[in-house]
Amino acid sequence: MITFRGVNKHFGGLHVLKDIDLHVEPGEVVVIIGPSGSGKSTLLRCINKLETISGGELNVLDMPLGGRGADVNRLRRDIGMVFQHFNLYPHLTVLDNITLAPVQVLRQPKTEAEAHARHLLAKVGIPEKANALPSQLSGGQQQRVAIARGLAMKPKIMLFDEPTSALDPEMIGEVLAVMKQLAKEGMTMVVVTHEMGFAREVAGRVIFMDEGRIVEEAEPATFFGQPKAERAKLFLSRVL
Ligand code: ADP
Ligand code: MG
Repeated sequence: MITFRGVNKHFGGLHVLKDIDLHVEPGEVVVIIGPSGSGKSTLLRCINKLETISGGELNVLDMPLGGRGADVNRLRRDIGMVFQHFNLYPHLTVLDNITLAPVQVLRQPKTEAEAHARHLLAKVGIPEKANALPSQLSGGQQQRVAIARGLAMKPKIMLFDEPTSALDPEMIGEVLAVMKQLAKEGMTMVVVTHEMGFAREVAGRVIFMDEGRIVEEAEPATFFGQPKAERAKLFLSRVL
């Protein structure tokens, strides 16, 4: 589904991704961890072409993303992304936030989009909030709406960039539970997070990044049990 081969990314003089090799199979859950500034968000943003790679090869859903040829619209349709800040439209109800893209982009009939949206709201545990405005919801509820909005496009891949980092501690669990369920259902997911419990429990593979490089890649039991890279050991000693 996703293949990086020797990918590099520069922002002007700043070398942010260095020789990234990464392969993600359908149904895999890959968790990316690492210190701030190590390139995690940039790597994620390359996958849906919010950033363009500077060199190497990147293939996503059978499309090469290096040049100008990539069908960005198809990419954005097929890849859902959830950010730290939920970015809901504040003036639209929860239901309208979720149905906006399916109606406008996929040309779904409004009634069909709404039925699907209600199904998704039940799935993320807040069926009663369809007519609420985002400001009337807690942070955890808003983030669950953002996940439902992503799912409304029936994506093939879901990207999560620190989806719980802006939440109060008591709301983190409810968002992680939704992500865990999604993983169980076979969604292909790439998740940047500092939630080590989630990584340990849900990840098929953990990627540790430092200074733009993938310095370790392992199954969670191996990574958390016997990290090899010194930088990963140090990182884990600080966060665990
Ligand atoms: P992480 O998500 O691991 O904290 P990022 O991918 O956000 O790391 O950033 C990696 C590096 O790239 C940082 O030094 C950051 O300042 C820089 N960077 C990120 N986005 C941009 C941008 N649009 N322009 C210039 N520098 C950027
Ligand atoms: Mg980041």
